[in-house]
Amino acid sequence: MKNLYKLSKYNSAFLSYDNYDKNDKFISATTLLKPTREILISRRWSSEEYQDVSDKIAIKIGTGVHDLRENTPFEDCIMREERMFCSLEHLGVTKFGLSGKPDLIDYDYNQPQIDTDKGLVVIEDLKVSGILKLKYKNFEDYILQLSILRYLALRDIKLKNILELKGLSQNEEAFSKYGVITFLAKDWSNRNSDLSPIAIKEIPLKLIEDEAIEIRIARKCTELQKYWDVTDQNDMPECSSKITQKYNGKICEKYCSARFQCNKSPVFKSDVK
Ligand code: SF4
Repeated sequence: MKNLYKLSKYNSAFLSYDNYDKNDKFISATTLLKPTREILISRRWSSEEYQDVSDKIAIKIGTGVHDLRENTPFEDCIMREERMFCSLEHLGVTKFGLSGKPDLIDYDYNQPQIDTDKGLVVIEDLKVSGILKLKYKNFEDYILQLSILRYLALRDIKLKNILELKGLSQNEEAFSKYGVITFLAKDWSNRNSDLSPIAIKEIPLKLIEDEAIEIRIARKCTELQKYWDVTDQNDMPECSSKITQKYNGKICEKYCSARFQCNKSPVFKSDVK
C-alpha cells in the first residue's frame, strides 16, 4: 500500500491494518449492493499496492465507532454484532451463500413510530456517514441492506435457536415491517437547523417484503454465479451508465473499489495481480 502523505510508520500501519472477517464462501449483504462487475473484479484481482493508506480513513472512523459500541456492556437484547448465514441453494445458487451482520436485533426497540409495541423483532444497523445523506434522505441502499438482513434473520439457524429459547417465533409475522438505521454524522460542516444538533438520529425505514427481496437477491446472485469463474474482464457484465454516472461521473475514477483493477476505469493499472 502507498503512503503518499509520508505518514509515520505507526499511522501507516494503523491505517493499512485490516481485520475484517472475510469469507469467500459467503457473499455479504453489503457486498451484494455493489455492481456485479465491481464484485467480480475485486474478488479476483487485488489493488492493494495502488491504494494509499489515506484511502482507509473513512473505514477506520466507521470501524472505530462500531468497535466502541460493540464493547459497550449491554446484554439485554436478542442478538448483536453476530454474523448470520444462509444457503442460497433453494434459489439455484451453489457457488456461495449469503451472510450479514446487523448491529442489533431486538424486540423492545425504543421507536414509537414502529410496531414494537406488539413485541415484533426489529433489525438495527449503525451508519457513520456524511450529514448530506441525512439531509437529502438518500436511504435507498439502507433499505435494501436492512431488507437483506431481515431475509437472513428469517433463515439463520443460530438466531432461530435464540428466538426459540426466548419463546419467540422466526416467522415473517414475528418481525417488524420496519428496520432502524442509527445514523451518526461524521461531519457537521453542512449542518442545517432542521437536523438534529447532536447529529445522531434513529431512522425507521419501511423494508421490502420477504418475497420481493428474495426475487432481487436471486436475480443478483444468479448473475454473479454465472460469471463467478470468468477470468477475462471483457466477458464480464459492464456497469450501466446509471452506475458510472454516480458521484458526478467520478465513480470509476475515484470511488469504485475495483477502479485500479477494472479495464473500463481511467485509473486502470494493467499489472494488477
Ligand atoms: S470502475 Fe467503473 S466500470 Fe469498473 S467496476 Fe467500477 S464502477 Fe464499474
